[in-house]
Formats: sequence, C-alpha cells, structure tokens
Amino acid sequence: MSNDELSFRIIFLILWAVFLIVSYAGHPEQLRSYSIKQRLKGVSKWASKADVASLAIIFSLWITTLILYVDYPDWMKYYTIPLPIWLRGVGIGLGLISIPLLVWAHRALGKYFSPDLQIIENHKLVTNGPYHWIRHPMYTGETIFMIASALESANWLVALPMMLNIAFLYIRVGREESMMIEHFGNEYRSYMEHTGRFFPRLGIKSKRKKSDTA
Ligand code: SAH
Repeated sequence: MSNDELSFRIIFLILWAVFLIVSYAGHPEQLRSYSIKQRLKGVSKWASKADVASLAIIFSLWITTLILYVDYPDWMKYYTIPLPIWLRGVGIGLGLISIPLLVWAHRALGKYFSPDLQIIENHKLVTNGPYHWIRHPMYTGETIFMIASALESANWLVALPMMLNIAFLYIRVGREESMMIEHFGNEYRSYMEHTGRFFPRLGIKSKRKKSDTA
C-alpha cells in the first residue's frame, strides 16, 4: 500500500470516529440492540418498521465497510474508483466541514433528537442555531459527510452504503415535515417560509423575531 493510501485510511478512520462520537455520544442508548427491538415495536405512527429496519441495516453496513476498508486494503483495492488525489483531498475537506455543522445541530436540537420520527412530550419547535436557516441541518451534515467518505475512500464498497444512506434521508424528509406540520401546524408552516430544507434560502430576508433565535 502506498504512503498516500495509508494516510487516506488513517484520516478516514479518524473522521469516522469523530462522526460516530458526534452522532451518538449524546444518545448512547441508540447503540444497544434492545433499543432497536424496542423501536421496531413502533415509537410513533410516523416511525415505520421499515424505517427502523433500514436504519439498522445501513448502520451495520457502515461499520462493516469501515472495518473492511481499514483492515483489508488488499481485498478492497478491487473496488477502487479511479479518482485523482486532489478530489480525494476535497473529500477530506468536506468531511472536516460537516463535523462542526453536525455538532452545532446536535447542540441546538438537544433532547428533541431521535433516530426515528417522533414527537416527544412537550416537544418545542427548535429555530435557533443552524435551524434558524435550515430545517434539516443534521441531514445536510450527514449528506456532506457521506459524499466526503465516498470521495476520500475512492472505493465502491464504501460509496454504496453512503449513497443508500443519502437516499434514505431524502425519502424520509418529506414524512418528517408532514409530521411536524401535523403537530405544530401554522408554526411549522411559517417556519418553512423562512428556511430552506437543506441549504439556507438565498435572497429572502428572515422575518423571524430576534427573540425566536436566542
Ligand atoms: N431533520 C432534522 C432532525 C433530525 S432528528 C435535522 O436534519 O436536523 C429527527 C427528529 O427531530 C424528528 O423525530 C423530529 O421530532 C425532530 N425535529 C426535526 N426538526 C425539528 C425542529 N425544528 N424542532 C424540534 N424538533 C425537530
């Protein structure tokens, strides 16, 4: 294995370790298998079994490819995507950008975060932090991180689960917004008018009051 390849693998592993810590450190219960069994029973009418099962499968695929990519380079090289080094570097850059966005979103959403779609007791609409501009900053952060991983690894076996994950998020986001509208009604509808789904709306001045964003 070339020195470049080794450096990419080490950086990949570090970025993934940070990503997993940022995503799960605040919610360790999500990593226990009983939690998945519990969740399969249905935490809310919005969280379908298919959703919970897809997430569990995607998570297992992440971990499998991670181990394969880092530990079995000779075998993984058959699945190489011939990308130039600079593009793999761009992947590292994107990975580095996505981490602070994810941290920021987790801090803002706090206890309202859940891996499955659900409304908890006394659920409040969060409109501060990145939620001031974007309705789904975690999905944006995850998408950037997944694209970053695919580019950086330049490997099909890594890229495929990443694409699957991105597709899953995009299929789910419409249902998440329907759930939010059902629960928050006009509060969410007017929040939608000032925000973009994954990226800030350009050219539209935010009309939200200062007190909303504190
Ligand atoms: N889609 C969001 C949140 C992902 S966590 C993001 O990408 O940042 C999923 C849970 O977040 C959902 O079950 C929903 O209850 C909650 N949620 C999503 N947007 C929210 C908001 N603006 N305020 C409060 N809770 C929110």
